[in-house]
Amino acid sequence: MNKVFVTGGAGYVGSHVVLALGEAGYEVLTYDNLSTGHREAVLSGDLVVGDLSDRDLLYKTVADFRPDAVMHFAASIEVGESVHKPLKYYRNNSANALNLLEVVREVGIDKYIFSSTAAVYGNPQTLPVTEDAPLLPINPYGASKMISERFLADLAAADRDFEYVALRYFNVAGADPEIRLGQDYANPTHLITRALKTALGIFPKLQVFGTDYPTPDGTCIRDYIHIADLAQAHLDALGYLEKGGGSQIFNCGYGHGYSVRAVIDTARQVTGVDFPVEDAARREGDPAELVAGNAPIRAQLAWQPRHDDLEFIIRTAWEWEKRLAARRASS
Ligand code: UDP
Repeated sequence: MNKVFVTGGAGYVGSHVVLALGEAGYEVLTYDNLSTGHREAVLSGDLVVGDLSDRDLLYKTVADFRPDAVMHFAASIEVGESVHKPLKYYRNNSANALNLLEVVREVGIDKYIFSSTAAVYGNPQTLPVTEDAPLLPINPYGASKMISERFLADLAAADRDFEYVALRYFNVAGADPEIRLGQDYANPTHLITRALKTALGIFPKLQVFGTDYPTPDGTCIRDYIHIADLAQAHLDALGYLEKGGGSQIFNCGYGHGYSVRAVIDTARQVTGVDFPVEDAARREGDPAELVAGNAPIRAQLAWQPRHDDLEFIIRTAWEWEKRLAARRASS
């Protein structure tokens, strides 16, 4: 197996995986509408600029490339926005996933890796949350991904040739350790990115969304996973499908979490900037605590994370943010 078709390969997670696939010797084709991604982030293989709702272009592109496997990253990903624009999420994350799956089966591709999310669990009853926990999303983002997972499960049950891996990401952060890539959204909402842009003076202050959660310091707890370890999980998943591993769902996280306040402390320490922080109301759709049970991915994919270190995660993101700011200043 050597050809991989990647939707959303110009985005944050997709671009890191495209680079890792290229370095591992795969031939990659990225399909991305560049709504949030960047042409210059595609560092391996070609880019086709297109939308997943453009079924004709999608079909033609996939049929011409004839990949051995498909990785589907393209999606809208903001929990808060999804609460206010649910149909955008069902369109981009569910309906478009269905388009892609139909094309994939029409062309005869039978290996598929899907970017899912810990948001499918909602507020888990037990932590760390394991893959067999009930799916009770508390925001449209999580629901839109849960629906796409269901498409995959039903298709795999009906069609024995089709095999998939769904990776449920916890909180992805950090940048390529060589700082060739990183997160680059026009309106970033994620905590670490907001904190670092505040340290750079791009935002005047960082708000802490909710200080009355049932956690030790009252702020939400998340399991932050370094982007390079997440990228590696995709290559491991591909290897697993190549060996006939069979359809499976895996959490992607380290198995322990940090509160919003702990992240802020580390960001201040890494940057050396005592940036302004303000307590604010809870953000809609946020669960109190999300931490991954990760025994299955370690056992079945032989996934060995290398960067389980909040300071390293934030340091790579900081180096990237400084580079981005310098690039913007000089253009
Ligand atoms: N958060 C915050 N201030 C911000 C951005 C995020 O307090 O400016 C909190 C958010 O409420 C959540 C945690 O940080 O508890 C992680 O949020 P993020 O958006 O990074 O990821 P999510 O968990 O929503 O995928």
